[in-house]
Amino acid sequence: MCRCPWILALWLSLGGQVCLGEAKGVVNWSFSLRHAQQWLTRFTESPHTFGSLSQKRLAQWMVLQLRREGWTSFVQDFEARVPSQDCLQRVLKKKTCDISQTSMMKGKNVVAANVHPHHKCIIIIGSHYDTKHLVGQKYVGANDSASSSLLLPQLLSSVARHGPSCGIVAVWFDGEEAVLPGWNDSFSFGLSFEDHTYGSRYFVSQLERCGNSWCLLDYPELPIRGLLLLDMIGSPEVKFSLDGNSNVRLRSHFYSVLKQMGLEDRINADMTKIEDDHIPFIEKGIPALNIIDFENLRHWHRPSDLTQHLSLRSVAMVGKVADRLIHFLHRNPM
Ligand SMILES: [Zn+2]
Repeated sequence: MCRCPWILALWLSLGGQVCLGEAKGVVNWSFSLRHAQQWLTRFTESPHTFGSLSQKRLAQWMVLQLRREGWTSFVQDFEARVPSQDCLQRVLKKKTCDISQTSMMKGKNVVAANVHPHHKCIIIIGSHYDTKHLVGQKYVGANDSASSSLLLPQLLSSVARHGPSCGIVAVWFDGEEAVLPGWNDSFSFGLSFEDHTYGSRYFVSQLERCGNSWCLLDYPELPIRGLLLLDMIGSPEVKFSLDGNSNVRLRSHFYSVLKQMGLEDRINADMTKIEDDHIPFIEKGIPALNIIDFENLRHWHRPSDLTQHLSLRSVAMVGKVADRLIHFLHRNPM
């Protein structure tokens, strides 16, 4: 249908679609720059941390947009115990906290589904959409977390192009970022619970057993085949980390896809174990792959993580990789 021009500036100005090539047996993946720009602009208007009013408004906006695009979409509310502002101030002064310096936080996962009665399984695609709270600084997170969040709606449509087997459920997790400055500060400063991945841990706690698999309460007959998690995928020099915590078979296919696409130079060959929203799924026995760039960290958790340092060309390329992996999950019960 469409050719594959790389003159993105022109396509951006026209609000066109980018078509990213075709391999044997894989249907074309196309990426709408107009849609990506719209979501990027909304996501980077202001900080939207876990539990904030701006995050609540963003969740409402997302549900509205997703419904307009034709998906079933809703907010999954949850509550979690988090370090309080008092605790945060203590940690900044290197003082420990106790349970009296914690409070309950209300979070919102956003869910959108492209699932129909003929489907026999579900593939979950995920991204966190909260921004990291940086004390005294404005942080909008163009790469962490807008880049992956804006890709999910475009991947949702791929089920129609990949045949009839699985439906796709997209989940935007709230509360991935730690409330305290460091990922494991809660343990270092006297608290006995994990201070991160709040939304994904709640989402997984709501799954129910169906035979040997896990199912969503809304789709009790459709076993979850796997999770593709996306995070920090918009650097102009995007590199793919090989995550040692991800499912071995999915990671191995991921590697093959990157090689088939001629993206060997984009692979960070050092295997590292990455903690992210896929861990609760893995702990439940659900195959999960984290597609993340943990090498380009110049703007990571810094106010400079802005749209001018983001490449939608990278996001589109990662979308094509993810689309191939969805294709793989469709055809291969894990
Ligand atoms: Zn982050």
